[in-house]
Amino acid sequence: MWEGLVDELLPRFCLGCGVRLEPRGAPLDLCARCAGRLLALDPARSCGGCARPLPEGRLEPPRCLACALRPPPWRRLHALWLYRPPLDSVIAGLKYRRLDYLGARLAVAALAARGGGLRGVERVVPVPLAWGRRLRRGFNQAERVARPLAAGLGASCVEALRRRGGAPQVGRGRRERWRLLEGRGFAPARPEAVRGRRVLLVDDVLTTGATARAATAALAAAGAASVEVLVIAWTPPAPGAGAAEPEGAAP
Ligand SMILES: [Zn+2]
Ligand SMILES: [Zn+2]
Repeated sequence: MWEGLVDELLPRFCLGCGVRLEPRGAPLDLCARCAGRLLALDPARSCGGCARPLPEGRLEPPRCLACALRPPPWRRLHALWLYRPPLDSVIAGLKYRRLDYLGARLAVAALAARGGGLRGVERVVPVPLAWGRRLRRGFNQAERVARPLAAGLGASCVEALRRRGGAPQVGRGRRERWRLLEGRGFAPARPEAVRGRRVLLVDDVLTTGATARAATAALAAAGAASVEVLVIAWTPPAPGAGAAEPEGAAP
C-alpha cells in the first residue's frame, strides 16, 4: 500500500518522450501520444503459432503457412505488442530501472487483451534468467509480469524451470544466440508443479523464439498437458525465416 502511495505522489515522466505525466491515467508510464504509438497485435489477425500478422484468420487459431507446415512446440503464442519504440522503453523501465509496478500494469494489459483466450490456464511459469544475470539484477522481469497475471487468471505462478547456464544474449547475433541455447536451454525445476497442467510460459520479449522453444521443450518434458507462450513484446521473424527458428532449436 505504501509503495502504491509513493507511486501516486512522485512526479512521473513519459518513458517514451520524457514529458511530465498527469498523476493518473498513464498505466504504462506513457503519455497519450506515445501510448498511441504502441502497435497491438490483433489475435484474430495474427498467426497463433508465431504471431506473424495475417491478412485474415481463416483457421482457428489462425496459422501462417510456415506454422501449418511445421507447427511450433507451443499450442499458442500470445504476443501483445510489436517490439518497437516506445515499448522498448517500457520494457527497459521494468528490466533495468526497477519500475516494478510496470509488471503488474503489463499483466493488467495482457488480461484485457487476451484474458478470454487464457481462461483455464492452471500454471503460469516465468522464463528464468541465467543465474549470473539474476544475481546481478536481483530479480526476474518475467516473474514481475507472471505473478500478477497468474493472480488475475486464478492460476498459480510457479518457477518451474531453471537455466542450465549460458552466456548473456545481449550483443550477440540471432544465429549465435540460438547456437548458444541449443543443447543448453532449461531443465524442469519442479516437474510435479506442471505435470498434467495447462501451462502459460511468460517472457518479456520474443526475438528469435529460441528461448521460448527451449523452455517449452523443458515444460513438455516435465509432463505439462499443454504449453502456451505469452510475451509482452514481439519481434517479427527475419525475412525468409520459417515459422520460428532454424531447424532443431528445440532440444
Ligand atoms: Zn510520451
Ligand atoms: Zn506462424
